[in-house]
Amino acid sequence: MYNLGIMKELLKKLIQAQTTSEMGELAAAEIISAEFARWGIKSDIDSWESNRANIIARVKSSGQRAALLFACHHDVVGPGDAPWQYPPFGAVESDGKIYGRGSTDMKGGIAAAVTAICRIANSGTKLQGDIIFVAAAGEETDSAGAERFVGNCGWLPELAGVIIPEPTDFSIITAHRGMLWLEVTTKGKSAHGSTPQLGVNAITSMQHFLNELEKYDISAKSHELLGRCSMSVNTISGGKTLNVVPDKCSVGIDIRTIPGANHQDIVADIKGIFEKLKLEDSQFEAEVSIVRQVQSMETERNCDFVRDFCSFLGMDKTQAVGFTTDGPHFASLGAPVVIFGPGKPSLCHKPDEYIEISDVEKAVKDYQSIILKFLS
Ligand SMILES: [Zn+2]
Repeated sequence: MYNLGIMKELLKKLIQAQTTSEMGELAAAEIISAEFARWGIKSDIDSWESNRANIIARVKSSGQRAALLFACHHDVVGPGDAPWQYPPFGAVESDGKIYGRGSTDMKGGIAAAVTAICRIANSGTKLQGDIIFVAAAGEETDSAGAERFVGNCGWLPELAGVIIPEPTDFSIITAHRGMLWLEVTTKGKSAHGSTPQLGVNAITSMQHFLNELEKYDISAKSHELLGRCSMSVNTISGGKTLNVVPDKCSVGIDIRTIPGANHQDIVADIKGIFEKLKLEDSQFEAEVSIVRQVQSMETERNCDFVRDFCSFLGMDKTQAVGFTTDGPHFASLGAPVVIFGPGKPSLCHKPDEYIEISDVEKAVKDYQSIILKFLS
């Protein structure tokens, strides 16, 4: 039967699979698929672009109850530029911890969910609802995997709820902010630096835009758990050389949104600023594009699924977090979504990311009891 050694081995192999955006997720999908196969659980790998992949597994039941979906992501961010004490993809075990990129975000959660599912499936328990597992590609970059899964969901049975095993340090999360990354580019006309009156300075246009943006009140109302929307101009580039009037200037704006703040409305407001500036100066020229967006998420905290989820774990409150997940994609399936998993969110994307092995073990127990309480 399953033991700690096997689970640690699975987690280490997943870290060593090095599923950055350059490498793709296929290697991790194959590891998870082999693990399920070892315990007699059938899974399917959906792969595209040579190395991208989702893996989907299903433990069938008598079907009298709605199913549970465990929705993970098996891609990771790169190791970054800061030095690591441990090799980022070495999966070194030391002091009760396993070190490596993705250990916390979120291969620890994957190892725990897979282990819990395999244990239940091999325990002889008669399930009344199916367990469905997906590890989706690209949560850190383009959410391609989650979109693909949701876009091809005709086969899914009715879902009681979705559990996302992202690192929450065992808090039950029902809401997070959304993310809207915009690039605004002003366009001008280049001229010799000694005769600026013959050109249109794109940096000066940007200055006018940024002055207006400063006055834009994005945080009209506040959310009880998530506070307000926030906005920060985090990149700027423009101009090529000191003696040429620049014809282009770009800024990157990082906007975090609360439920109810519509991304298209924000883009329309930005375009409204352009129009105002154009009225003031007909030479003003600018455009805005969406670099990336993730919707905010909010699950009704008083719905049956969330109430049962909390009571099964002996907890009485749910919380919100600042980071984003694929949750909004899975919420579009129409089932309530909770985010709950092992590992400290503060370790995500950092050098020497690690997970406490005891936390992964606790998550296995928690997921097993959740499965048994909802489905048996
Ligand atoms: Zn994550």
